[in-house]
Amino acid sequence: MLNIVLFGPPGAGKGTQSQKLIAKYKLVHLSTGDLLRAQIAEGTALGLQAKKLMDEGFLVPDEVVIGMIDSALEKNKQATGFIFDGFPRTVAQAESLDRLLAKHSTGVACMVALEVGEQELVKRLLERGKTSGRPDDQDEAKIRRRVQVYNTETAQVAGFYDVQQKFHSLNGIGEIETIFGQISDIIDQHPVAKAETPAAATKEVRA
Ligand code: AMP
Repeated sequence: MLNIVLFGPPGAGKGTQSQKLIAKYKLVHLSTGDLLRAQIAEGTALGLQAKKLMDEGFLVPDEVVIGMIDSALEKNKQATGFIFDGFPRTVAQAESLDRLLAKHSTGVACMVALEVGEQELVKRLLERGKTSGRPDDQDEAKIRRRVQVYNTETAQVAGFYDVQQKFHSLNGIGEIETIFGQISDIIDQHPVAKAETPAAATKEVRA
């Protein structure tokens, strides 16, 4: 299996690049933001609980998103790989992802972070908000909170993958095709993760 984590603050271009990557590598796209918005659209109890937090730009609890990823992996046993978009957003989520993938005898091949500064993110998300209909894209204070949550709670996930020698960072400002080419080059350098466990990954780093 080829499992890629696409990382970066809100508005960095993860969704756009995910669409191109799933087409090229035949991966299943797993965006926890999309899965949560589907729950909101269906009016489930989980969706109602998540909506309040999402609209304000806060993270939903780890157990909620981990549970969603667990069932998505169970539903897609035939997949040749996954692209994780917007997940993991905390170190606890990253640890759980390793555990969940190990259950399916696989692991994360690499993590690619798209770096974009706050001013550009605010500009991009306000522009997206004109058509996305997302309440969290339409208010500058909420957008800035999402960026702040990324900086305080999510950015440390990079260190988790750095220790495993899977972390790569790219400038997320530039032509979509150029950035796509750079992400593809990184993915192509990583062997497909097979039967990897968190313990095996640690041994690999120490070796
Ligand atoms: P996104 O579509 O990735 O920008 O996510 C939109 C919102 O959904 C975030 O601001 C969070 O409130 C929530 N969310 C999405 N993914 C996660 C996650 N992995 N952990 C916690 N909250 C999440």
